[in-house]
Amino acid sequence: HIPLPRPQAPRTIVIANQKGGVGKTTTAVNLAAALALGGLDVLVIDLDPQGNASTALGVDHHEGVGGTYEVLIEGHRVDQHVVASPEAPRLHVLPATIDLAAAEIELVSVSSRENRLKHALVEYRAMHDVDYIVLDCPPSLGLLTVNALVAAQEILIPIQCEYYALEGVSQLMRTIQIVKGSLNDTLRLSTILLTMFDARTRLAGQVADEVRSHFARETLRTVIPRSVRVSEAPSYGQTVLSYQPGSAGAVAYLSAARDIAARGAEGAY
Ligand code: ADP
Ligand code: MG
Repeated sequence: HIPLPRPQAPRTIVIANQKGGVGKTTTAVNLAAALALGGLDVLVIDLDPQGNASTALGVDHHEGVGGTYEVLIEGHRVDQHVVASPEAPRLHVLPATIDLAAAEIELVSVSSRENRLKHALVEYRAMHDVDYIVLDCPPSLGLLTVNALVAAQEILIPIQCEYYALEGVSQLMRTIQIVKGSLNDTLRLSTILLTMFDARTRLAGQVADEVRSHFARETLRTVIPRSVRVSEAPSYGQTVLSYQPGSAGAVAYLSAARDIAARGAEGAY
């Protein structure tokens, strides 16, 4: 793998879109693995009780395994529960178990409930070298997602190239403005990635054009194609990068990671 440049400063990127099934988790795990294969230190935080990111990165997340729940609710340190992913040497994961489903409610009554993850990651970064922290969110705008939006500096929105692609993005933009104005003034939409692009349909091209006209600067040149290899990989506990390294999906995620790393090295994001 081609070495990727380090960012000027460590980047914490939340992959957000409250619509389910748009490719958040797929993007989180494949980008994280691609960045790590480029020689960068990467930490993935799984904030979805379904634990799909943990699964795809080949880490154990059965009930009772320590992870994001213990960090958010019990105040454990992130490094107490971080595990290495077999997908790449410098790739680590804070797993999510189904226990995390309760955290959405339990967080309501804990102190500084929106800042729990932020504080945990500040502590982690002070003790560990990390170039990229990638946060995978559940499909809602609840307190788990708010914790991610407060802990991150940047948002990456995956947009599925289908009908109603931009539906929900304006709601997400309003949420970003609220979080920015109250809890995290550094938060910015830095990146949009077009996913599940089907070059055979006119619609996909139209959606891509529409997104680029709204978000010219943010939208990555690289587009992720719809590919059955991408959707098969998690059932083997793998990313598409290790499952089918030469496939169009793998090549696209490697290219997207290069785009993101190049922006990071220039400080242009
Ligand atoms: P989210 O995390 O936003 O809910 P996922 O990443 O889980 O979305 O993706 C939803 C479904 O679409 C999953 O079954 C996933 O495997 C599949 N998928 C994601 N990206 C692609 C792609 N590029 N090509 C084909 N299937 C994809
Ligand atoms: Mg997901």
